[in-house]
Amino acid sequence: MSLYERDQQALSSMSFLRFFPQAAVGGEGAYLIDDQDRRLLDLSASWGAASLGHSHPAVRAAVDRALASQAGASHLSGANLPAVALAERLLSIVPQRAAGRVWLGHSGSDANETVARAVVAATGRARIIAFQGAYHGGTVGSMAVSGHPTQASAQRSAGLTLIPYPNPYRDGGENHAMAAALSDLEDLLAGPVPPGEVAALFLEPIQSDGGMVVPPQEFFRQVEALCRHHGILIVADEVKVGLGRTGRLHAFQHFGIEPDIIVFGKGLGGGLPISAAVGPTPIMNHSAAFSFQTVHGNPVCASAALAVLDTIEEQGLALHAADVGEHLKNLLTGLQNRHSLIGDVRGKGLALGVELVSDRETKSPAKQQAAKVAYRAFELGLVLYYVGINSNVLEMTPSLLLTHEEATRAVEILDHALMDVAEGRVDDALVARFAGW
Ligand SMILES: *Cc1c(COP(=O)(O)O)cnc(C)c1O
Repeated sequence: MSLYERDQQALSSMSFLRFFPQAAVGGEGAYLIDDQDRRLLDLSASWGAASLGHSHPAVRAAVDRALASQAGASHLSGANLPAVALAERLLSIVPQRAAGRVWLGHSGSDANETVARAVVAATGRARIIAFQGAYHGGTVGSMAVSGHPTQASAQRSAGLTLIPYPNPYRDGGENHAMAAALSDLEDLLAGPVPPGEVAALFLEPIQSDGGMVVPPQEFFRQVEALCRHHGILIVADEVKVGLGRTGRLHAFQHFGIEPDIIVFGKGLGGGLPISAAVGPTPIMNHSAAFSFQTVHGNPVCASAALAVLDTIEEQGLALHAADVGEHLKNLLTGLQNRHSLIGDVRGKGLALGVELVSDRETKSPAKQQAAKVAYRAFELGLVLYYVGINSNVLEMTPSLLLTHEEATRAVEILDHALMDVAEGRVDDALVARFAGW
């Protein structure tokens, strides 16, 4: 039995979000190694979690050191050195207004859930504003403040108001998209959503699972001004696009805003589970024992996170991501001339999206083709998944250490996959059992 078949026989499908029969036995840098000894060029890096690629020596060394003399398994009932050092480090890299206290968790979900509860409890304001298409997590409390259509059956928080995320490609360009989204927000605050009842506005600086949508350049500055005027806290969910990926340390820096609370996850642990929420002390110290799980503040994971932050800084990986990302984006834009399926190429640094459409005029989402391109690319040795409220955006969040050569190779494979799909060489039946999202 293949590794993938064994996986199907043993593991619950409830946590599967599969696109093709990927099965790894190892990994090195930007490559995964499968059970047939194939080397797969990984443009997802496990949704950006393997931020330094697979088996990065600095992460390995940090984990080895932490395990050689393990400072417990948790920080619930006692301080441990790696967790404290990580918190100090995070406080030093966020804007002053957010540099109060750090909450450590396991995942973007638990961190966003905690923040959503804390802002309401600490401010006494019951409402939260978030964006349509937003993905803030997969737990009850994080789904409650999300707007992604795959969670349509999830219970949203009673105090949640979802507003449109401006999409320049689909909403008539930057200016039109921004004006429409802003007037929507202003109308809400002038009527049905009294601003004095709103604790916080959750935003993704780039809406990744919603389709790697880059908002109009000025949009968040305007949103920030409204929030400041009404005393609404701004929560930046940097879980997927933060920590160097976009070419800046924080994705929100591209838009000139300063959030009150910043949530980190995915790439923070370099492949190990750890998340963090950083914000003002009155919020983050709302009350003791308000939100914890047993091995939160785990010293092994915290050590890995410190190694990730050190490596990003010492090796200038934000700049590197900007540089390789520009190369990758240029090559993808070049592909657009050869493949009518590509409607839009967008993103910043190494957070890129390629939106597939069946008609460039109507922009009709090419969902089935996206599934087939991802499948075919996998057969040809490239790992990438698709996202978006219409499931038609190929997403690239590779290792921050991706090289120019690897980026070039990835686009060659993608070119080949796009051609095979356009020419009808990929069977619908192949992707039918991988109905992703
Ligand atoms: C993935 C993601 C989350 C949830 O993180 P998990 O580690 O899956 O819990 C939250 N917000 C954003 C923007 C994400 O991309």
